[in-house]
Amino acid sequence: MAKVGDLKVAWSRELPAEPSSVTVVKTVTGKYYASFVVAVDDGAELLEPLGDPDAETGIDLGLKSFAVLRGGKVIESPKFLRTMERRLKKARRSLSRRQRGGKNRQKARPALARLHEKARNQRDDWLNKQVKALVSENRALYVEELHVAGPAKSRMAKSVQDAAFGMFLSRLEAKTRRAGRTFVKIDRYFPSTRLCSACGALTGPKGLDGLGIRRWECGAFHDRDANAEIDIRREGRRLVAAGHADT
Ligand SMILES: [Zn+2]
Repeated sequence: MAKVGDLKVAWSRELPAEPSSVTVVKTVTGKYYASFVVAVDDGAELLEPLGDPDAETGIDLGLKSFAVLRGGKVIESPKFLRTMERRLKKARRSLSRRQRGGKNRQKARPALARLHEKARNQRDDWLNKQVKALVSENRALYVEELHVAGPAKSRMAKSVQDAAFGMFLSRLEAKTRRAGRTFVKIDRYFPSTRLCSACGALTGPKGLDGLGIRRWECGAFHDRDANAEIDIRREGRRLVAAGHADT
């Protein structure tokens, strides 16, 4: 680097091409990160088309688990999200108890920043791994747009989980498009939970009262999330066939 000279670097990933510039950022915890601007050819991240035309899934973002995929396959909510939530909450509480400008408060602040940073890194790694697997295994991904407001046990839980959902979807969309796969967003008012995937009647659990209902019956027994995934996938296919989806 100009003016600084050679630096020792721990690479998080290989650069796909010669970078045109670099930005170095120092975090509150005293770590330095370098981010590079790299030009890549269009289609550089395209994946080979999948042979199986049926390799596709709906994604039902959950309350109980992180997401439910085709065939009731579950992406569990990572435990560290909850652990971090709890620790952050505790650290925040102890920070707010300490006197403003006091010595103890100044000591608590870097600890909180370190927790934040660790949580972010852990979450990012995990999200990238999920996204990569989904994109490589499916030729089409159908997801519901996020509900802005949703039920949550606490404000913290809501903010951490919601932020993770939002990041998951935007990364998934970007990677799916770069890989040449199909990504379809379903309107968030589409009643994926209520719609019976067998007969098409709106017989499923509804509203706040229905939140705790995991299984329900309408001719057949339905698992709430597995049923929603089928509805989302079917609606996504319909949108693609009708030319309403940008694929
Ligand atoms: Zn039915």
